[in-house]
Amino acid sequence: MVLNEQSHLHECQAEVEQLREIGRLFYRRGWSVGTSSNYSVVLSHEPLELLITASGKDKGALGPGDFVRVDGKAQPVVEGQPKSSAETWLHVVAAAQQSDVGAVLHTHSVWGTLLSDHFGDDGGFWISGYEMLKGLEGVRTHEHRQWVPIYENTQDIPTLAEQVKDQFQAPDQAPFHGFLMRNHGLYTWGKDLFAARRHVEIFEFLFECVARKHQF
Ligand SMILES: [Zn+2]
Repeated sequence: MVLNEQSHLHECQAEVEQLREIGRLFYRRGWSVGTSSNYSVVLSHEPLELLITASGKDKGALGPGDFVRVDGKAQPVVEGQPKSSAETWLHVVAAAQQSDVGAVLHTHSVWGTLLSDHFGDDGGFWISGYEMLKGLEGVRTHEHRQWVPIYENTQDIPTLAEQVKDQFQAPDQAPFHGFLMRNHGLYTWGKDLFAARRHVEIFEFLFECVARKHQF
């Protein structure tokens, strides 16, 4: 059978449209410019399968065929699909750690990038005292302290994946809602795409507050 451009996506049209909308929104907000970023939705957990944006696409104008279905090893599940980026591994790792992760979003914002460098040598930073922290899943009070880990921006994806796995298993820093890669960008997730999008919005709001407070 010869695959046409979008035949690998006919079972997930709703998810495709939701991710295209995320792309338009994040592009307008300046969080996904210059073909940066990637977004995924978990299609199934057992076995793990994700729908993720194809590599190198303009996120402000994602086409209906600009998506790839990948398995729990970040490999395409259907032949003839466009390529996904090396960052696909990190989506798979985040989705594999918790059965209630339904979507993973990766963005490249100015404030997140500045903070990731400023606090990079500390391995992360705390955010506390902001009402907007209550937008993170499970946070009930603005007195909450949220740790945002920062990992070096390495091409060594297996090492990075191990760091992320360790963080998921570190009970003292729960809840773990996202991390920064140094001079690169944010990864966050949620039980569905709405929750993951909310987490991007909340983190970006908080990043700007923290960065402006430090008078960047
Ligand atoms: Zn990236």
